Amino acid sequence: MTAHPAASGQPLSGAPESGRAAGASDAAGEPGRAASGVGESGPAGESGLGSRVGASGPGEPGPAGASVSAASVSAASESASGPARAEGGHAAFQRMWRDFLPLGRHSATGGYRRYAWTGADAECREWFRAEAGARGLAYEVDRNGNQWAWLGDPSGRDAVVTGSHLDSVPDGGAFDGPLGVVSSFAALDELRARGAAPRKPLAVVNFGDEEGARFGLACAGSRLTAGQLDPDRARALRDADGVTLARAMEHAGHDPEAIGADPERLARIGAFVELHVEQGRALDLAGRPVGVASAIWPHGRWRFDFRGEANHAGTTRLEDRRDPMLTYATTVLAARKKARLAGALATFGKVRVEPNGVNAIASVVRGWLDSRAADEAVLTEVVAAIKQAARERGARDGVDVTVTRESFTPVVEFAHDLRDRIAALAGADRPVPVLPTGAGHDAGILSAAVPTAMLFVRNPTGVSHSPAESAAEDDCLAGVTALADVLEGLACS
Ligand SMILES: [Zn+2]
Repeated sequence: MTAHPAASGQPLSGAPESGRAAGASDAAGEPGRAASGVGESGPAGESGLGSRVGASGPGEPGPAGASVSAASVSAASESASGPARAEGGHAAFQRMWRDFLPLGRHSATGGYRRYAWTGADAECREWFRAEAGARGLAYEVDRNGNQWAWLGDPSGRDAVVTGSHLDSVPDGGAFDGPLGVVSSFAALDELRARGAAPRKPLAVVNFGDEEGARFGLACAGSRLTAGQLDPDRARALRDADGVTLARAMEHAGHDPEAIGADPERLARIGAFVELHVEQGRALDLAGRPVGVASAIWPHGRWRFDFRGEANHAGTTRLEDRRDPMLTYATTVLAARKKARLAGALATFGKVRVEPNGVNAIASVVRGWLDSRAADEAVLTEVVAAIKQAARERGARDGVDVTVTRESFTPVVEFAHDLRDRIAALAGADRPVPVLPTGAGHDAGILSAAVPTAMLFVRNPTGVSHSPAESAAEDDCLAGVTALADVLEGLACS
């Protein structure tokens, strides 16, 4: 099954430092690297594109789109018995990757700015809708803005769902999220090319606003669906410009009043499998292209408000100052030390300063702490120690410190039976490695309600949430094969 000739080991387009990647993004129509290496591309890819253009029109359907229209359902049943696409999973992956790569990419940084409910997000969502249309899948947007593409009956029970997210962190990499969605469509194509007959409904999903880059709360789409985020709280979230999530959704054509828990939808899902680029080097160290997640570390975000007094940088004596920047800086250093001592992680990656003038002592510094650890007790201890360090230093500086927990996700232990089954299905010859991760995912949110598993694809440098994020093409294709094997095992037997 894993017929991968010539392991090139070259990074797939995506890292801006790769000359090929830059070329691919500059000329959208250029085949670039995708034609080389594995599988066939070209004619098959072009026929796929042709049918895609023919099958879909622009724009999302009306607001909410909570139910599947009769037209799209019939399209799905047609496809189940209709002609198979000539394109196998690998060629489909290469074509889709090439198409998707330029969307939301910032020309100066080479990073991605695909923030929820922006124009770049709309482009990504339109791409998803078109790929669903090209395959004759039943397309729907659920009440929380997540996109679904169904092969088989969307209202059927025991569905097997795969997918990830298409949004990004500020100047994020190409793989975090899109690798899972693109691989999901490619895995469906692979099943079709194999002649596999699904006995259960199969779906590809794009969960909205996974990174929380715009409104500060990660996994908003899946949290809402799982009933882990209060709709009123969600609607009131604001971006850096003061725009509420409700307003942003409305502007993008989605009804913010419709958002909320969707237990009926989750009850129809028998298994959710998310493929994701690894955000660490465990697979690289193990010398394996694909792995399975065992658990997600507990993690959270805390906002630290340091309040001092604005004053003139040139006339205020050092001993007269109440400088919150000093308290903040000391807290950053303390966070690093406490995390190191506890074997945890702690990061201040975002900061806002008022009035933010070069010749003014700051009045307020706001820093956001992201902290994670293998278990919850350690995490709680580390964060408490960082808070204490901030307050002690604040007392010396005459700076008031308040800390607000903005989000928290407990440890996620993926269902062992599904995890073990997937580890066996994904490894053609021997079970794939099983590893924990410090990164949060929609799969983690869903795992509270649905049997859930994750597949990871090797990331040779481990770099993520950066334009330098990368994965070798052969590894991505091995991921498609593994995902197809898993879906075949779960839905076709
Ligand atoms: Zn992700």
